Amino acid sequence: MTGSADLHTHTFYSDGLHSPEEIVAAAKAAGLRAVAVTDHDGLDAIPAATEAGRAAGIEVIAGVELSVEIENRDVHLLGYFIDPTDERLRNHLDRYRRSRGVRAEEIIRRLNAINIDLRWDAVLAQAGDAAVGRPHIAAALLEEGHVDTYEDAFQRYLGNDRPCYVKKVSVPPDEAIDVIHAARGLAVLAHPGLYTPGSTIDLLVHAGLDGIETVHPKHAPDQVRHYQRLVKELGLLESGGSDFHGAGRGESSVGNPSVPYRLVGEMKRRLGPRP
Ligand code: AMP
Ligand code: FE
Ligand code: FE
Ligand code: ZN
Repeated sequence: MTGSADLHTHTFYSDGLHSPEEIVAAAKAAGLRAVAVTDHDGLDAIPAATEAGRAAGIEVIAGVELSVEIENRDVHLLGYFIDPTDERLRNHLDRYRRSRGVRAEEIIRRLNAINIDLRWDAVLAQAGDAAVGRPHIAAALLEEGHVDTYEDAFQRYLGNDRPCYVKKVSVPPDEAIDVIHAARGLAVLAHPGLYTPGSTIDLLVHAGLDGIETVHPKHAPDQVRHYQRLVKELGLLESGGSDFHGAGRGESSVGNPSVPYRLVGEMKRRLGPRP
């Protein structure tokens, strides 16, 4: 099983800057065999990405990135090969997106309280139909000239220990894993190298986690090796990708970094035959 795959990308249906078609075209240009579209809390990119993949002759894996809370921290779970029509998944995402809207309003209130005159409309202009997140608020702050850079918005206001930070609604990990499984997908821990303690991994494994993302632009080589060992030890699947959001939102690009396509084959074997 030759070829490579990028199993973590975002479109403008979440906090990415590109269309699903552009992501697929970039994957094709990078010579990938497969690309997973894994927007935060939404499935809107999947139909167009799937169609573009079919036209371009590149495999598109239907994915999603869910947020859960473990030990007071925000942890991300990737769902792969999910059925985007699954009712339970769709209901979960609808409820979660509404709660994200409420939270974004609270962040804006806090910004306003410290005399940063950011309006809801400016944030909405960034988010469009996406589930509203801090990246959209950061982009709006930049657009309106309240900060000098996108990063600066996090450093000054939106980062986890900064004055305008508001937590998201807490989703327990077993619930998110069950939702992914109900949609016949695989649940994979995203970027554990961004402060995910071992106790969190243990807890997720007990809740039915299927795999761990070992390759990620923010993982140092020794972290990649560490998680690759762990995956083997625990008998889990391995995943990885660029977590591409667009130029200026991180350093990666589609297919850089990538993983061997063999990992996709292993996922499919784990899933078994599908209708
Ligand atoms: P949210 O889910 O709304 O809390 O937003 C989380 C997203 O914000 C992450 O996935 C990152 O893309 C981005 N983010 C969080 N902290 C930072 C930071 N310090 N610098 C840049 N981006 C960040
Ligand atoms: Fe993101
Ligand atoms: Fe993430
Ligand atoms: Zn991501």
